[in-house]
Amino acid sequence: MLTTKIIEKKMLIIIGSGCAGLTAAIYAARAALYPLVIDGNQPGGQLTTTTDIENFPGFPDGIGGYELVDRMRKQAERFGAAFVSDHIRAMRNEGEVFYLDGTRTTYESKAVIIATGASPRLLGASGEAEYFGGKGVSTCATCDGAFYRGKDVAVIGGGDSAVEEAIFLTRFCQKVYLIHRRDSLRASASMTRRIVENPKVQIIWNSVLEEVLGNGLRVTGLRICNVKTNIEQILSCSGVFIAVGHKPNSSFAIGVIPIDSHGYFIPRADDASCSPMDGVFLAGDCSNSLYQQAIIAAGTGARAAIAAERWLVGAAEKCVPIREYLQN
Ligand SMILES: Cc1cc2nc3c(=O)[nH]c(=O)nc-3n(C[C@H](O)[C@H](O)[C@H](O)COP(=O)(O)OP(=O)(O)OC[C@H]3O[C@@H](n4cnc5c(N)ncnc54)[C@H](O)[C@@H]3O)c2cc1C
Repeated sequence: MLTTKIIEKKMLIIIGSGCAGLTAAIYAARAALYPLVIDGNQPGGQLTTTTDIENFPGFPDGIGGYELVDRMRKQAERFGAAFVSDHIRAMRNEGEVFYLDGTRTTYESKAVIIATGASPRLLGASGEAEYFGGKGVSTCATCDGAFYRGKDVAVIGGGDSAVEEAIFLTRFCQKVYLIHRRDSLRASASMTRRIVENPKVQIIWNSVLEEVLGNGLRVTGLRICNVKTNIEQILSCSGVFIAVGHKPNSSFAIGVIPIDSHGYFIPRADDASCSPMDGVFLAGDCSNSLYQQAIIAAGTGARAAIAAERWLVGAAEKCVPIREYLQN
């Protein structure tokens, strides 16, 4: 049930404070829309869970994930964006107004940018959380692969993305183990052929990750178990990439904004920054399963803010003028 107490009435609300939401906030604030950003349970988003970002343009020596989003946040605040610590549980629209039900209160807005990201799925194996983010456990070969030049690494998973990550890692790494719990891959036939023929890859079938081993600072190996024989094995490696998919943070909008079978928001066919519902815009990983990178999330954040601003100006012309709406 949505609460009735409304403390925040805004022209534009941005849900999520990862690099998509923060970039949207910079653009919207500079367009004098005074956006409110709702932080969610992970202020700053996924980048706060990693150490070095080496592929974000403008930082030739790299930059820490936390520092990057902190700078974006300060930039947005400088132009007048406001932030609130809350998590949206549900949304609905009444006519041309949106209501967002948070854990603290209900927010009302004329337009909404959804930038809630997609959390990488982890396995919950022992040691996985301890070594996650800069210590050897990663969920992104594109982001972290280059840190493992000349090393042995493992990839866990058997779908297209796991196979893609493993093939990508062979560019840098000496050896790549692909560990899959079944005896055949779920990846497409062409991807399967490519990986089976790659001399740097060793596929370990019917096996699951039991424990990530380390020396307290870095990963040193894995304990895996064959599910058919129950025999355990220690694999020496410097990194492990968990490639078992992402979970888009879209549950709060189910039934309001269309989502695909994996939970990603489906954009409008003619403009990827717009949802099919007028006044709701999409940015970042929550509507993009293919290119989950910070620079792309930031770019789509800028695009969503521009689209929202254009829509608000048009909406104001045909319905309630912006100033009047905010005063009532
Ligand atoms: C360990 C790791 C390392 C990475 N390294 C790199 C790298 O080196 N280079 C690179 O380009 N990319 C990297 N990435 C990928 C990059 O972090 C993501 O592509 C990017 O963060 C996506 O940004 P986003 O804003 O769409 O979502 P996120 O960063 O996931 O942010 C989502 C935001 O939405 C909020 N939220 C979620 N649900 C709700 C809700 N119901 N109500 C309110 N708020 C909500 C969260 O609190 C969060 O603030 C890495 C990812 C990980 C996990």
